Amino acid sequence: MPKKYLNYIDGEWCPAESGEWFENRNPARWSEVVGLFPKSDSRDVDRAVKAAKAAFKKWRLVPAPERGAILKTAGDIMVERKEALAQDMTREMGKVLTETRGDVQEAIDTFYYAAVEGRRLFSHTAPSEMRNKMNMSFRIPIGVAGLITPWNFPMAIPSWKSLPALVCGNTVVFKPASDTPLSSEHLVEILTEAGIPPGVMNIVHGGGGSVGTSIVDHPDVNLISFTGSSEIGKQINSRAGAKLKRVSLELGGKNAQIVMDDADLELAIEGTLWGAFGTTGQRCTATSRLILHENIHDKYIEMLLDATSRLTVGDGLDESNKVGPAINEGQRNIVHDYVEIGKKEGAELICGGHPLTDGKNSDGWFYAPTIFSGVTQKMRIFKEEIFGPVLSVIKVKDFAQAVEVHNDCIYGLSSSIYTRNVNNAFRAIRDLEAGITYVNGPTIGAECHMPFGGVKETGNGHREGGWPVYEFYSEIKTVYVDFSEKLQRAQIDNY
Ligand code: NAD
Repeated sequence: MPKKYLNYIDGEWCPAESGEWFENRNPARWSEVVGLFPKSDSRDVDRAVKAAKAAFKKWRLVPAPERGAILKTAGDIMVERKEALAQDMTREMGKVLTETRGDVQEAIDTFYYAAVEGRRLFSHTAPSEMRNKMNMSFRIPIGVAGLITPWNFPMAIPSWKSLPALVCGNTVVFKPASDTPLSSEHLVEILTEAGIPPGVMNIVHGGGGSVGTSIVDHPDVNLISFTGSSEIGKQINSRAGAKLKRVSLELGGKNAQIVMDDADLELAIEGTLWGAFGTTGQRCTATSRLILHENIHDKYIEMLLDATSRLTVGDGLDESNKVGPAINEGQRNIVHDYVEIGKKEGAELICGGHPLTDGKNSDGWFYAPTIFSGVTQKMRIFKEEIFGPVLSVIKVKDFAQAVEVHNDCIYGLSSSIYTRNVNNAFRAIRDLEAGITYVNGPTIGAECHMPFGGVKETGNGHREGGWPVYEFYSEIKTVYVDFSEKLQRAQIDNY
């Protein structure tokens, strides 16, 4: 019998009100059930929100450095458990161990970064226009934060959201993706061991349509932070926006790597492999489009095919494998549908293009790393997010066309250029329409202390990571202190 995991509400581990469970399965070995998780609904969300609302009264008064100290302790616990956490994450999510270790490390980094921000939480002071008067502002918490996360970074993304929310003094109701509930459960367990008080951090497992919508609609949830698809993000934005909730959205991407004819091609190839096929292409920042200068196009394709043929696909727990499975059958089907679309549109399939179902891979959702050349800007495989190991290659004649092709996209998350021309590097930094630009690096590689997010339909202007996320999770209280011992009227008495 697989282990049963629980919700964590008001300091208690508890089953769902429904008494029902859903399965968490290993995408590399689908017959293996990793665990059973509570199938919650609006009743569980309501209990969690009540607990979070009540806990907020005390938590907001805990000094921020003291809140940060709890996160430091939690980070220390996570360091000790890093390997076990990575193994569990590979079992539920599929990506290879090197990558799940990185995912856990990103959470550790975020714990330590958030702990230190507890000693800062800066705001502004400014001179008053009046004599004997001081002006200042403080960051104050907002209330109950509703956090909804996807499955591709099961620990990093929840930590990006929950830790700044907590250190700013908010309480949390958190719904992880139902494909990867175990890593989120571990995150909450560690926070409880580190001493987070009851009601401050709550986790409610279940589906997006039940638990997710209940969090978004609940009148006592004051802000929503969502990472996931653009389609769901737009729905959440209008529902939460109608109630004037603060909403942060991190959505889809269709990221491109540009390789100019003066680039270090060996280096660029390493970047393409890691960007396109790392995490089986299931990253919001994955390299999905490759824009090649015509002078190096043919040679680059030859080098890329050779390098791709050496990628081993299989169970991520086996360290000899470089690429794991798709998250589930539905996702693999979507990938294959796009491959069929690409073929019909007239792109040339030069590598992969089929599920891997033989031998050791027969029980998982594996897909061969796939490359299309001869892609044009009109094709759907050029425009739409696929979220799988499919790379679309497009040829350009010069730098200006590379930028034009790059920007012909509804999304704007991550971008990359490989070049040795310093002027083109700086032009790219200025002109590529994206929240992130890498020079001589692939489209992936975020660090927790730098702002992360995109322009256009990738989001609604907020950032995770770095300082800006602390602004999202706090409001400003402006304070005027008048010690003149008389009524001073700004704008009137001084003019
Ligand atoms: P998804 O939108 O299907 O689900 C994301 C989360 O929302 C899950 O927890 C899901 O249960 C929940 N959800 C689903 N329907 C909901 C609803 N109606 N109301 C409230 N919550 C609901 O996305 P996914 O398949 O888990 O993740 C893949 C997508 O996430 C891709 O589009 C990818 O680009 C995007 N993503 C973006 C970033 C970023 O930072 N920009 C990072 C990772 C993933």
